[in-house]
Amino acid sequence: MEREEKDLKRKELKGSRWQSAPKVELHCHLDGSLSRAFVESRLGRAVPIRELQVEPDCRSLPQYLEKFDLPLACLQDEEGLQGAGYDFIRSVSGEHVRYAEVRFAPSLSAHGDLTCGRVIRAVLEGLERGRQDFGTEYNVIVCAMRGQAFEQNLSMLRAAREFLGQGVCAADLAGNEAAWPMSEYRELFAEARKMGMPFTIHAGECGSAANIRDALDAGAARIGHGIAMRGQDALKALCRERGTGIEMCPVSNLQTRAVERPEDYPLREFLDAGLKVTVNTDNRTVSGSTLSGELAFVQEMYGIREEEIFLLLKNAVDVSFADDSVKQKLYRELADWKEGR
Ligand SMILES: [Zn+2]
Repeated sequence: MEREEKDLKRKELKGSRWQSAPKVELHCHLDGSLSRAFVESRLGRAVPIRELQVEPDCRSLPQYLEKFDLPLACLQDEEGLQGAGYDFIRSVSGEHVRYAEVRFAPSLSAHGDLTCGRVIRAVLEGLERGRQDFGTEYNVIVCAMRGQAFEQNLSMLRAAREFLGQGVCAADLAGNEAAWPMSEYRELFAEARKMGMPFTIHAGECGSAANIRDALDAGAARIGHGIAMRGQDALKALCRERGTGIEMCPVSNLQTRAVERPEDYPLREFLDAGLKVTVNTDNRTVSGSTLSGELAFVQEMYGIREEEIFLLLKNAVDVSFADDSVKQKLYRELADWKEGR
């Protein structure tokens, strides 16, 4: 990455003109978004930021993934899970995120008596306390994991199903996309459909357009990242027709080298194709990112016009899994803010 580009990124990520806009975060992992103070409080020691966050010029997925070990260690008991939910809402409310869909894999915290159901309940308790203190609405997306057995993922989905409409809004498929293609999870997501559980799928982050096609065929309402749709007119047309939400995470995608060069990032292409593009952080702590910073970054880096930023914000409400009353409230807040500028 060029020096000027790095400087621009650092500057834009710190603060931005979008700080006060009412924002919606749709693709954000709980473990990758825990505040340093929270991790330190759970581990009972000082944690240098380099143990939690990639360098600003990180350009590799392995480097990126090694930052998840410590936060995950904080999510192994109910107290940690509750605290994490609360910490998350406190963080996002600080930059005026008004609604957040936070995702995590319950199975990575479940062990012994701590079942997936108890894991989900504990996070929801923390999120709810956060909502009461800070006012940000939330829902949880539960992640099935690539590489885990069908039965294990299915039993997690069954546990999550009990909370559908009561804090859980959808499912996801996360983990190593390059090693475990979407085609191996068709049956799992057929089960999700039978349960009435909507879902989004991490697809096309590691170059596979087939994973995007398979996720759409399975009935995904949204696609996480979707970068491999670049230049794929048939897939873009399908997403446009269906109004499929595209959860783009620009800073994270550049850090993990989802595209070879920053100029290859298809945000402008997807917007121009009429897709329901949204901008998200993916991992607030690991990426060192905020939603306001992401918006300022794409504006500077990809020439996204102010009107288009409003469209990104509105798209996020459109394709969110929030219920209608929350959506109406978010549309009103967005319209008021735009009016007041
Ligand atoms: Zn993700």
